[in-house]
Amino acid sequence: MDKGQKERQARYYSKNKETIKARVLRWKESNARKISDYNRNVRAKKRREKEEERIRDSFRSKADNEREIERLLSLLDEDNFKECSRCKVRKPLTAYYKRKGTPDGLQYLCRSCILDSNKARKDKCNI
Ligand SMILES: [Zn+2]
Repeated sequence: MDKGQKERQARYYSKNKETIKARVLRWKESNARKISDYNRNVRAKKRREKEEERIRDSFRSKADNEREIERLLSLLDEDNFKECSRCKVRKPLTAYYKRKGTPDGLQYLCRSCILDSNKARKDKCNI
């Protein structure tokens, strides 16, 4: 961009400041959803990177733990979580026993809820 072009642009901008501002504002308004989605994704990504870094740091001292680090990192993925249908807590898939015939091949209740309900049943029988 040469000097003349720059000057023309600056002049255009100062003359049409309000119009340009209004146009930007309109664009922001009509794309509010997209912008907030974008910002949310960026924030989620940053949070994730920070969490990954934290996990890596906490394991760095123990040399051959690269696999454990990968496992923990994989737990950060939304897809690796599911909600227990009893306690309603989102837990990693590893917190569920396997079960044939369910859509994901896992129990609907988390391990601790299953253990609780087994214990409750046992207690009931022992009365
Ligand atoms: Zn549960």
